Amino acid sequence: MSEKVRLATVWLDGCSGCHMSLLDMDERLLEFAETIALVYSPIVDAKEFPQGVDVTLVEGAVSSEEDEKRLYLIRERTKILVSLGDCAITANVPSMRNPFGVDAVLQRVYIENTSLQAQIPRHELPLLLPRALPLHNFVEVDVFMPGCPPSADTIYFALNELVAGRRPDFGAHLHFG
Ligand code: SF4
Repeated sequence: MSEKVRLATVWLDGCSGCHMSLLDMDERLLEFAETIALVYSPIVDAKEFPQGVDVTLVEGAVSSEEDEKRLYLIRERTKILVSLGDCAITANVPSMRNPFGVDAVLQRVYIENTSLQAQIPRHELPLLLPRALPLHNFVEVDVFMPGCPPSADTIYFALNELVAGRRPDFGAHLHFG
């Protein structure tokens, strides 16, 4: 790729830890200034997911109808879709609610654990899907980047490979800690 790689990052049902790890690349982020254009992310002021994105890193599971809708749009507009972290790959932490069902979870959060004005908000919340699921249950995923979160070194390796036009092979390049 001779022009800058158009990169997006998206935060679905995750804790933002994967994005924190991305930022943990610290000064190495500056190395990508010449090769990457960050066109959409929780850390940039872009309202709509753009057309023609080369690489999108998606953190988090798909837990609501809104997540699902966003993911289909992202897939449509992205060449290489990366599941960033274990929540995106396996549903991990968000899937802990799956055995209980949506009603029981809402009851627990908004009624049983509330001492004042206990009520379940019916209009303000995105509608939860019956189960939190990984991205590849909905769309084709091109790259799986494991870790909870993937370390900054792992993300750095992956971005360098993607910028070079290669699919990262994490076999020998998973960095922990
Ligand atoms: Fe948070 Fe871990 Fe899920 Fe990333 S994979 S969103 S760090 S819980």
